[in-house]
Amino acid sequence: MSQPENTITQATALTNHDRKPIHIPGSIQPHGVLLALSTQLEIVQVSNNTQAYLGKEPEDLLGKPLSHLLEAQQMEAVKQCLAKKIGIANAFKVSINTLHQERYFDGIVHRTEEAVILELEPTDSKSEMSFLNFHALAGEAIAKMQRTSNLIEFLHIVAQEVQKIIGFDRVMVYKFDQSGAGSVISEVKREDLSPYLGLHYPATDIPAQARELYTRCFLRFLPDLTAERVQLVPPENPTIHQPLDLSYSLLRSFDSCCAEYHQNMGVKALLVISLIQEQKLWGLISCHHLTPKYISYEVCKMCEFLGQIVSTELAHKISYSEWNYKVKLKSLQADFLESISQADNFIDALIKPEIRLLDLVSASGAAVCLDNEINLVGATPNIDEVRALIEWADTQVSDNLFFTDSLPKLYPEALIFKDTASGLLLLRISKVRRYYILWFRPEVIQTVNWAGNPNESIQAQTDGSFILCPRKSFEQWQETVRLTSLPWETCELESAIALSNAIVGIVLSKADELAKINLELERSNRELASFAYAASHDLKEPLRGIYNFSTVLLEDYAQVLDDDGIECLQTVVSLSVRMETLINALLRLSQLGQAQLREQVTDLNELLNQVIEVFRASRQDSALVDIRIPRPLPTVQCDRVLVNEVFSNLLGNAFKYNDKPEQWVEIGYLSQAEGGQGDKENTPCPMPHAQSPIFYIRDNGIGIPQHHLETIFRLFKRLHSQEKYGGGAGAGLAIVKKIVELHNGQIWVESTVGVGSIFYFTLE
Ligand code: ADP
Repeated sequence: MSQPENTITQATALTNHDRKPIHIPGSIQPHGVLLALSTQLEIVQVSNNTQAYLGKEPEDLLGKPLSHLLEAQQMEAVKQCLAKKIGIANAFKVSINTLHQERYFDGIVHRTEEAVILELEPTDSKSEMSFLNFHALAGEAIAKMQRTSNLIEFLHIVAQEVQKIIGFDRVMVYKFDQSGAGSVISEVKREDLSPYLGLHYPATDIPAQARELYTRCFLRFLPDLTAERVQLVPPENPTIHQPLDLSYSLLRSFDSCCAEYHQNMGVKALLVISLIQEQKLWGLISCHHLTPKYISYEVCKMCEFLGQIVSTELAHKISYSEWNYKVKLKSLQADFLESISQADNFIDALIKPEIRLLDLVSASGAAVCLDNEINLVGATPNIDEVRALIEWADTQVSDNLFFTDSLPKLYPEALIFKDTASGLLLLRISKVRRYYILWFRPEVIQTVNWAGNPNESIQAQTDGSFILCPRKSFEQWQETVRLTSLPWETCELESAIALSNAIVGIVLSKADELAKINLELERSNRELASFAYAASHDLKEPLRGIYNFSTVLLEDYAQVLDDDGIECLQTVVSLSVRMETLINALLRLSQLGQAQLREQVTDLNELLNQVIEVFRASRQDSALVDIRIPRPLPTVQCDRVLVNEVFSNLLGNAFKYNDKPEQWVEIGYLSQAEGGQGDKENTPCPMPHAQSPIFYIRDNGIGIPQHHLETIFRLFKRLHSQEKYGGGAGAGLAIVKKIVELHNGQIWVESTVGVGSIFYFTLE
């Protein structure tokens, strides 16, 4: 990259520099002469080299009319300029008779606010470049440039064509980003020179003054950076009593910092062409030559013209390339949408393939955080660093988005991982659920130190003060660059937001779908329950008929039947009794399916007393029944009648499935705190993190095989034949489970065959 003149980066340096505005240096470069004229075209100021070019000392020219020097026709060209806008130049051929010979010049004239400036650059011929010559050179270049729509290819052609025309050692295209920082995006160079392509520079690299000048004058030519500058005589313009404004002057001298800076790079000649977009400086075509090199005014003009063509063409190429990039991002978004909406595993859909997540915003690493699980993709800080970063970034987020291209400056902890994450783009999809996606960009490290030894950069001035030259400031800005990533483009931010919207949309629509399914499920459950109720209810009547008629047959017609017939009839009777039991169980279950809980504050001790009383009353051996209650039960909110049924059923089973000579049952509970920390011997450890008391009924019965611990809760599931353990419908536990679930509770069992079982349940 060419460091345009006045490359100063830090505030201190800028201050020094700004004190000496670059448009009024009071001197010119020595490859031509400058005459400042009053509006009456009288010579009022000249460069102190008139003798060398015009054969006249300044004092021979000052105060004289310009006509003293130029012919009538040339005077006409100068006069025309008076009617033009400030800075618009008129060029013409000039021939001047010096003492020894006739000399030819390119005369370039423009006016400032108060003066007219005529610059004369020596040329070999008095004839102007013909239009055909100009067309041959420029036309071919333009035709090539128009052939491509790809921006980078286009700029490469531009660099090639400019290099062909001016023959410099290196031609680069330098582009500014939104922050004003820049990079070399195209380069054509002599083979033996090291490449500058891809190097990045901070915004402060080109001070505001220089930038502003580049937007007004599209070409700056310094043919010899080692040349001595030529002072104007007198130093101040006599008309305005101020230094002459040389903003539009081609010969304007450059400052020593600029010269030194470029000489450190080995550059002796410099040509810079502005590239303008929407009246702003978009970039520069910067040309270096390693020895002083002069090119004619006409060739310079052609380069300026090419620059203007490039500026016009740029708009199309930029929009084409941005459009291409946007299309790529859109297609990635569509891809995401499809895979996320179809995926069972949401995270997998996001991070596979990994490259897609990175490409979406052109990042080199990403972290997907869902609840507390973090998945890393590409080059990233480690999980703990990402976790801490999220905590911090969460406080910075507005509109669920946070991005920076210099994270370590905002968050010093990031210094450790600046190589992977100097740039951060964070998307907060849900704070409650802790959904975050983070993208990272590495530090931009492609910088080059052209500034030489920083210790040499402080220069003592003749007045005893010191001035900072770019070398010192270069070191400082390199520091700045070190903690910076490439900036996040608007379309990349939009891309991230689109992904977030897609995720939110899909998650919401999944929730919607789930709600619909739930509604449907509830409806079909209700239908099933009412069907079961109707069916069981209606079945009872014919069953009763079968039972009644069979009993009548047995009682009144036993004498006409043989023994087999009687036995068959007895089986019919007992089967119909069993069937009624089953139907009753089904009926009860279907009733529960439609039941509304009638919850009330219930002292479970009272409730349990009733249960035990009824239980003892139903058994002849009630004196032998050992029921232990280690501590009083709590008072809870529940449906008394139904919870009574739960305890009755579980208590009944505890004694029913027990073949020990000394049977006992323990009824108790574990408080919320004890839920996760009981000990197996006395109070078991059933369910960690319980929110409400866990009730248990423990027996020393026959136990249940491990593989049946869940199946026993199914309707009509029995583990034994009818004859054993007093028979049963196999519906008790299904009903218990239903009641517990109606209370939003859970039921489960632990058991050891031959030792006993523990049934646990909660009532939320
Ligand atoms: P039923 O007692 O009518 O068979 P349940 O639904 O109450 O129906 O019980 C289902 C099955 O679970 C029983 O057949 C029995 O095999 C087993 N079971 C229930 N409670 C216990 C227990 N406390 N000890 C051992 N087995 C049990």
